[in-house]
Amino acid sequence: MTETAEFEIKKIAKSRISEVDFNDIPFGKVYADHMFVADFEDGEWKNMRIEPYGNLSISPANATLHYGQSVFEGLKAYKNKAGEILVFRPEANAKRMIISAERMCIPPISEEFFMTALRALLKLDSAWIPGLADTSLYIRPVIFADDPYVGIRPSLTYKFLIFTAPVGAYYSEPVNVKIETKYTRAVAGGVGYAKTAGNYAASLYPALQAQKEGYHQLIWTDGQTHEFIEEAGTMNLLFLINDTLITAPTGDSILNGITRDSVLTLARDWGMKVEEKRLSVKELEAALKAGEVKEAFGAGTAATIAKIHKIGYNGTDYVLPEEKPLSDKLFDTLDKIKLGEVEDTHGWVCKM
Ligand code: PMP
Repeated sequence: MTETAEFEIKKIAKSRISEVDFNDIPFGKVYADHMFVADFEDGEWKNMRIEPYGNLSISPANATLHYGQSVFEGLKAYKNKAGEILVFRPEANAKRMIISAERMCIPPISEEFFMTALRALLKLDSAWIPGLADTSLYIRPVIFADDPYVGIRPSLTYKFLIFTAPVGAYYSEPVNVKIETKYTRAVAGGVGYAKTAGNYAASLYPALQAQKEGYHQLIWTDGQTHEFIEEAGTMNLLFLINDTLITAPTGDSILNGITRDSVLTLARDWGMKVEEKRLSVKELEAALKAGEVKEAFGAGTAATIAKIHKIGYNGTDYVLPEEKPLSDKLFDTLDKIKLGEVEDTHGWVCKM
């Protein structure tokens, strides 16, 4: 498929956009008018099309329902002052989706295919990109196994969908997190680096227990020893300890976050000391006790930067300083880059 590929486009009879209050958008409940769909059959991706957003029909034996053979992505579109559509680093999402797909035995789509489909969908539904402060159009690409077959094997058929949802700000208040040392999100040799359904299903129960104790999210530790900090449920984690910005190196148990990479790049641009290293819980605890943790934050597409207020470990809650100048600067800089308001020196913003 080429950049100029034309899809079959079946437009919605009547847009639903007038039903949406863009000043008060509930997260993940309102979807734009159209979705992109492609089928994998007979060993190839085919039937690329755009059609009205709506329910799918699947067999009760659908392989994804039972065995979770699926991968997804999450990214956002914005509008600049001239009304042009901007997407932050979409090629990186396409690349990561290909990596996730390989691990889950899902036939890959090409980066070009991903970009062409995304561009066509966003052009059609551009009115759904809010263009108000703190809002964006969240984009959810997903590929899932579609065989009506309950035997365990890689499916022979798949669907690739992209649908979108206008969203407001995600976490506005700083969050409280707990270092988890009993449950495990991911292990060496596992699928932690893939954006695949089961990783998220497996994290629900432990996260719920933490929520009952008053925390918003978990800090996952490594599955082997629970001695090293890994990431949060949907964000990578960064710690400013004294004057050094520290984050876990990505590997097979940590998702290679695009926000994480962007943050590290900006911090290095600004001449900061940056270390990608395994941070032990003991080292973090000692730094918390000594007041050396100046800031800590999650980095991910949903919130961009989720400032951490409190870190719980072994029954003690450590409150971080209220002033969070680095988190604020990173958030503001990334926000301006995404909206095309400052020079995009790294070529991150893709004009659709
Ligand atoms: N870790 C996990 C487990 C995630 O689901 C996400 C969200 N995609 C991230 C980190 C952050 O990645 P990104 O910055 O690419 O959104």
